[in-house]
Amino acid sequence: MDDCLFCKIISGAIPSTKVYEDDKVYAFRDIAPQAPVHVLLVPKKHISGWSQVTGESDELLAHLMRTAAVVAKQEGLEADGYRIVSNCGQNARQSVPHLHLHILGGRELSEKMN
Ligand code: AMP
Repeated sequence: MDDCLFCKIISGAIPSTKVYEDDKVYAFRDIAPQAPVHVLLVPKKHISGWSQVTGESDELLAHLMRTAAVVAKQEGLEADGYRIVSNCGQNARQSVPHLHLHILGGRELSEKMN
């Protein structure tokens, strides 16, 4: 999608610090990290958010989730644990309308989920 920030990151038009890539997904460091490790994992296909996943392939969505665990392990988070967060829409303060998972770790995270 032409005017999507994360599509531009995936294409390389906007620079990012890549931590993982395959044919379906791309992972890069968040520009404003909220933990020592803060990685964003996105499908390469433009999907605006969770409300738009109906009709997307189970394979892609499962791959996205499975890859979150792969990236977390690669980042050394497996032993101590980590959090996967994904905001959807206005009330959740989703700021970039391209489906993404936040992978957060490297310190003990807040007990609050909200
Ligand atoms: P969300 O608010 O859940 O939509 O998350 C969007 C995330 O994208 C935020 O954590 C931002 O810090 C991050 N972000 C915005 N622009 C960039 C960028 N150019 N490179 C890396 N991360 C970014």
